[in-house]
This record gives sequence, C-alpha cells and structure tokens, in this order.
Amino acid sequence: MATNIELFERAQRVIPGGVNSPVRAFRAVGGTPRFIARGEGAYIYDAEGRRYVDYIGSWGPMILGHGHPAVVEAVQQAVRDGLSFGAPTEREIELAEAILALVPSMDQVRLVSSGTEATMSAIRLARGATGRTKFIKFEGCYHGHTDALLVKAGSGLATFGHPTSSGVPPETAQHTLVLEYNNVEQLEACFAAQGPELACVIVEPIAGNMNFVRASLPFMRRLRELCSQHGALLIFDEVMTGFRVGLTSAQGHYASLLPGFEPDISVFGKVIGGGMPLAAFGGKREVMKHLAPLGGVYQAGTLSGNPVATACGLATLREISRPGFFDALSAKTRQLVDGLKAVASDNGVPFSADCQGGMFGFFLLPELPQNYGTVMSTDKERFNRFFHGMLDAGIYLAPALYEAGFVSAAHSEADLAATLAAARSALR
Ligand code: PMP
Repeated sequence: MATNIELFERAQRVIPGGVNSPVRAFRAVGGTPRFIARGEGAYIYDAEGRRYVDYIGSWGPMILGHGHPAVVEAVQQAVRDGLSFGAPTEREIELAEAILALVPSMDQVRLVSSGTEATMSAIRLARGATGRTKFIKFEGCYHGHTDALLVKAGSGLATFGHPTSSGVPPETAQHTLVLEYNNVEQLEACFAAQGPELACVIVEPIAGNMNFVRASLPFMRRLRELCSQHGALLIFDEVMTGFRVGLTSAQGHYASLLPGFEPDISVFGKVIGGGMPLAAFGGKREVMKHLAPLGGVYQAGTLSGNPVATACGLATLREISRPGFFDALSAKTRQLVDGLKAVASDNGVPFSADCQGGMFGFFLLPELPQNYGTVMSTDKERFNRFFHGMLDAGIYLAPALYEAGFVSAAHSEADLAATLAAARSALR
C-alpha cells in the first residue's frame, strides 16, 4: 500500500504540484495532502486506510454524504443507458424543471459542466443582453478561473482591475471593476461614475470563498436598487450556496428578509450535480432569449447536460427536497458551530463562527469579518496549527483559512461529538 507521501511524490512528477486544483496541495497549511481512496457517508478514507470526518464534501456537492444509495442507483442506471450522446435527452428537461421549480427568479436555465463555465457564460450573457462591457465584482469573491474574473485586488473603485493570475492580459481584465464586499459607499460611488456602462454585478450572496461572509442586508438592498436604476443585471453566483444554504438557496434567504428580492441571473453548480461535473445558469425569459440558438450570445458544450451527471443531480435534488431535510441539516450545522464557539470560549481563544443551512465558517477572530481584508488578517500560523491538530485527530477541514466548510446529511451526533472533542484538544 502506497503512503500519502509516496503518492504525493509520484503525483508531482506527472501533475504540476501533484494536484489538479491548487488548494488540494496543502500549500497554505503545509504538510502532505491526503490521497483519498474512497468515501462512505460522512467519512473519507485515505490511501493509508485512515478515516476522516469529511467537512469539505468535495467543496460542497456531497450534501447527502458519500455513496448515498439513491444517488448511486440513479448513476448506475444512467451509465448503463449511455455515457454521453451530445443530443438532447428527457433527463435534461427533468433537471431543468426541478431546478426552476425551486428558483422562482428563473424562467429558463442552461446546463453546463463547471461553475467556471457557468459564471463565464453568465457574464457574456449579461454583456450581450445589455450591450455594455464593464462589470463589478467584489474582492474576496471567487467566480471560477475565467480570465476576466481572475481579478480581486485593488479596491480603488474607479480604477480598472488588475489580474490576480499571470497569463491574463491586463486588457482582458480592464473592464472588471473590483469593489470591497459590504461597502455601500463604494458601490454608490461606482454606480454614480460608471452606471450607464455597467452590464452587471456578480456577487457571492454569502461569500464562501472568503470562508463565510454574508452580504449585509443594507448592502444587498442597495445593490438591487442600484442595478435596477441603472439597467445593470444582478448576477447571483450560487455555485456554492445553491441548494446548500437552504432549498430556496441564498436568494430565497434574502427574499425572506427583503420582500420581492430577486437576482436577474443565477449561477448554480456543486449540489445540483451531486458530485458529477454539472453547473447551470438561468434567468428570466427576457434575458435568456439572448442565448444561442435563439439569440446572438454564443455558448455551448460537448458534455453539457450529460446524462450521467443529470441523473446524479436529479437524484440529489429529490433527496434534499424531502420535507424536513434542511431543518435537520441546519440544526446539525448550527450545533457544530455553537459547539465550536463554546469550546473556543472555554479555552479563551478569540473565535467567531456562522452558518446557514449546511454551510459554515469559523474565524480565529473575535468578531465575524465583513470583508476580505479582515478575513485575511487572521493569524495564519494559528489557523494552520488548528488545521493540522484537527487532521491528526481525523477531522478533515478545508486546508485554508478562506474556505467555507460543509456538513452533510450523513454526519451523525457521534461525528459532531468527535469533532468538538478534537477541537477542544487542538484549541488547547
Ligand atoms: N463560483 C463559486 C462561488 C465557487 O465557489 C466556485 C468553485 N468553488 C466556482 C464559481 C467555480 O466552480 P468550478 O470549480 O466548478 O469551476
């Protein structure tokens, strides 16, 4: 049996950094990534046979835990019927109908294979539909690795975006305006200066890519008003929050607090694929009619609406739609978060935490941060020691302080108790 270290060395010879997505390499926290052999329920097992309580859940999709029988059954059936046709199937309609039934802001939806593809296409659609070029994103929000979205730094509101990645020509990112999350004044100033040129604003309504930061109600209300006043489309990136923070997603949560609230375009991923490559973007018919083949905004995909992925997504949506599913998941997540806060407080460690549905975040900071700058002021060494303490105790948390955590329906009382016991030792 190969060890994690041996596998990591072997991987690094043939795959850059040994991984197919950078955060998996444990660069931020140091140490050797675990090579996962299999998952079952709330657990994953590494190549050495060690078991971990999994709070990453493939970064969100595994809301039912690993190997849920109904999902496995649906996928096996779909595999027997055929892996891919590149032609329309009834299952795509079923999944579109299932998604639309839960997202009243959308009349139509287009299926794609990754969150990156979905946000990229949503921006193109917004630009095509408005005939405008510029758009706003917020510092600390991640929307996939499309060139124009790989911009985060420099909150100077009238300045143009600078790419965060090399290989992105500045011209590609020059129409991306980056503002501070939850900063209403900056938002107002930006709309006052650039309103007529703005195609859209893209936002993570609860930002899971800076751990867990909610858009404040005043911020969200003003964002909606300004977009409507200036004819810019509001894009909700719910790749992470969609069907994860609740059955009506983050937009349902905000609509419950701000009556009538709706985004113009929504982007989903992760949970709607249940662990298979599947994502989606959608909106009102008025906007969606601009997409090819109806309109002039081109967008396509060989594997879009893949029959195995749609079977997996449908089975997952069916399970999470059962009465009481989110009540139970939310209660469990809340129990974890409250437990962690109590343990930290017992140990005199500055700590704050928040959750919604099956998504949570915690900070080694005395108060919940409101923006990226504050999130990144966390003591990284301290976080890394906590992370490794937990990992050694068999608790698998995200290996970076700016990533959200996820609880699944498969996590048991015993798993939560083990997690809190491990946290007690690690925080001590
Ligand atoms: N948007 C958000 C909010 C995300 O969290 C992610 C991925 N974590 C993406 C977009 C990109 O999705 P993908 O990794 O499937 O391309």
